[in-house]
Amino acid sequence: MRALLLFLSRQEALKNFMLRFQMFRRTAWRFVAGETLDDAIRAVQEANRLGIRATVDFLGENTKTREDAETAVAEALRILDRIAAERVECNISVKLTQLGLDLGTDYCYRNLIRIVRHAGGLQKFVRVDMEDSHYTQRTVDIVLQARRESDNVGAVVQAYLYRTQEDVRTLLDAGCRIRLCKGAYLEPETVAFKRKSDTDANFVRLMRILLDSGLYHAVATHDAAIISAACEYARENKIGAEGFEFQMLYGIRRDLQQRLAEEGYNVRVYIPYGMRWYPYFMRRLAERPANVLFILRNLLRK
Ligand SMILES: Cc1cc2nc3c(=O)[nH]c(=O)nc-3n(C[C@H](O)[C@H](O)[C@H](O)COP(=O)(O)OP(=O)(O)OC[C@H]3O[C@@H](n4cnc5c(N)ncnc54)[C@H](O)[C@@H]3O)c2cc1C
Repeated sequence: MRALLLFLSRQEALKNFMLRFQMFRRTAWRFVAGETLDDAIRAVQEANRLGIRATVDFLGENTKTREDAETAVAEALRILDRIAAERVECNISVKLTQLGLDLGTDYCYRNLIRIVRHAGGLQKFVRVDMEDSHYTQRTVDIVLQARRESDNVGAVVQAYLYRTQEDVRTLLDAGCRIRLCKGAYLEPETVAFKRKSDTDANFVRLMRILLDSGLYHAVATHDAAIISAACEYARENKIGAEGFEFQMLYGIRRDLQQRLAEEGYNVRVYIPYGMRWYPYFMRRLAERPANVLFILRNLLRK
C-alpha cells in the first residue's frame, strides 16, 4: 500500500482525476493549512497561541522551468517578510527541487542563497528539506556551501538511508543544525532499510548522536516511543529541554504536540500551504493506510 501510494504521488494524470472528488480535496485540508499565505499565517498564529513554534513551507517540488523556480523564491521572500512583520515564532522550510535543482546545481544554489541572505537580515532560519535519494548528495553539498556564508541554514537527514550516519558526521563537523526524520520517499533496498524496525533503531542511534553534539537540532517524528526515548536520553544525560526541539507535521498528533509543549519541551509544527499539495498529501496518506481507508469508505458511501 505504501509503495503504491508513493508511486501514485508522482503521477500527474491521476492527480487531475482525483482532484475532481471533493472528498479527496477536503481530506487534504487536514494536512495542508490552505492555498494562501494568509491561511498559513492563521495556522502559525493558532500554533503560537498554544506555545508551539512553526515552520512554513510553500508547497511545490521538481520545478521544470526557471519561471516556476523564481516564483518559489519570490514566495519564500514574501513568507519571510510576512512572518517578520507579524512577529510570529516561525521560520521557513524549502525544497531544493522547487528552487530549480533539476535545472542546475549552481542555479539552485543561487536561488537558495538569496533566501538565506534575506532570512539572515530578519534573524530567521531556513531549513532545507531532504527529498528522494537522487538528491541527497547534492542537497548536503548545497547546504554545506550555504553554511560557509551564513549559519542560519540547516539540513534534514533521513533515518531510513544507510548513508545517513556518515552525512550526520559531515554536517556536524561543519557545525550544521539538523532535523532528523524517518524519510518519506519510495527508496530501493540498495540505499534504504526496508524494515520499519531497522529505520526506527537507526533513528534512535542518530538521535543520540545529535543530542550529544551540543548543537540545537530537531527530532521530527510523531512516534510516541521514539519521543519518549529522546526525553529519557536527554534526562539521563542532563541535556536541558532548551537544547533541542521536537517537530511534527500540521494535522498529525496535535494532542502530542500540545502535551510536549505543556511539559516544557520546544515543539515546532511544519505548516505547508499552496496549490501544489498533491504529492505532499499522497506521502501523508502513504504513512498511514487508515487515512486511505477513511477516504475510500466515504467515497463508497456517496
Ligand atoms: C517536521 C517534519 C519535517 C519532515 N521533513 C521531511 C523531509 O524533509 N524529508 C522527508 O523525507 N521526510 C520528512 N518528514 C516526514 C518523515 O520522514 C516521516 O515520513 C513522517 O514523519 C512519518 O513518520 P513518523 O516519524 O511520524 O513515524 P511513523 O512510524 O510513520 O508514525 C508514528 C505514528 O505517527 C502517526 N502518524 C505518522 N504519520 C501519520 C499520518 N500521515 N497520518 C496520521 N498519523 C500519522 C501515527 O500515529 C503513527 O503510528 C518530516 C516529518 C516531520 C514531522
